[in-house]
Amino acid sequence: FELERLGVHESVEAVFPPAELADYLIDLPVEVAVIGDDEISSCDAVVTLEHREAFLDLNWVHSIQAGVDRFPFDAFEDEGVVLTNSTGIHDRTVGETVAGYLLMFARRLHDHVANQQERRWERPEWDDAFTLPGSTACVVGTGTLGRGVAKTLSALGVRVTGVRRSGDPVPGFDEIYTNDRLLEAIEDAEFVIVTVPLTEETRHLFDAEAFDAMRDDAYFVNVSRGSVVDEPALIDALETDTLAGAAVDVFEEEPLPEDSPLWGMDEVIISPHCAAYTRDYFRDTGDIVRENVNRLADGEAFHNRVV
Ligand code: NAD
Repeated sequence: FELERLGVHESVEAVFPPAELADYLIDLPVEVAVIGDDEISSCDAVVTLEHREAFLDLNWVHSIQAGVDRFPFDAFEDEGVVLTNSTGIHDRTVGETVAGYLLMFARRLHDHVANQQERRWERPEWDDAFTLPGSTACVVGTGTLGRGVAKTLSALGVRVTGVRRSGDPVPGFDEIYTNDRLLEAIEDAEFVIVTVPLTEETRHLFDAEAFDAMRDDAYFVNVSRGSVVDEPALIDALETDTLAGAAVDVFEEEPLPEDSPLWGMDEVIISPHCAAYTRDYFRDTGDIVRENVNRLADGEAFHNRVV
């Protein structure tokens, strides 16, 4: 197809100002404009965070997120609309966020922040604080996020194991397990970190059985998608002390409802689905869009094509 007008849908505003991306792409040989819902039909393609039914009349939709579980793949297929995503750019950002969670738990930094709110001078119990070397983190999903997490944690002295379907070795991981050995992979780890996409196969992958299999002193980290976890089972494991704590960036319902028990737990760190945030986000996404506009012009296959 011919690309004449590329829209930057206003929904990207949740992650960066739409105009920043439009400016960044100004050198492309197509018209780039920030658009609202009423201007979708004036475009051939859009860059977006959210899905709209009207996108099914376009030729190409690019998701600024790696996770595309909110888009109806079958409808895209039926209508012949190309869907591309932004995987490949979140290794360092999410890796650093996860390293931050682990350091907070190990060095008790979350306690200090909570105490500071109350102007309270209170040191940790003598046996609460620890260091990361010698501990093991099991990373479930060895794609961009998983590899970025492995690289960052390895630099902190953590032994990193991974779970992937093929079981083949991955650079940066000390040991790899196949999916059918998930419970074995997580049973001895001090940290379990989820980095798989949400699919029919991974929905509620982390349920009561998985939390039971984990050590009582282990910390659980979810930076993938909320529904990969059975959230009531996680809450139950935390309330019954069969897990030490959790850092959670993504939830079954977002924003996390005010009455969720997770908000009030001392050993839970909550971040509002922003593990991959960086002020460079529009550039990182823009580079993928630019690459694909060029590929389209050259008659080459799209990079990061999902549908
Ligand atoms: P990616 O495609 O690079 O990696 C995903 C990996 O998971 C791939 O290696 C894939 O083979 C593997 N996988 C898929 N299904 C699996 C299964 N059933 N069992 C085991 N492994 C499986 O994607 P990515 O960029 O690493 O992102 C992964 C997911 O993380 C996204 O789909 C998105 O939902 C989420 N994400 C969240 C944030 C955030 O801000 N919290 C940011 C980026 C991505």
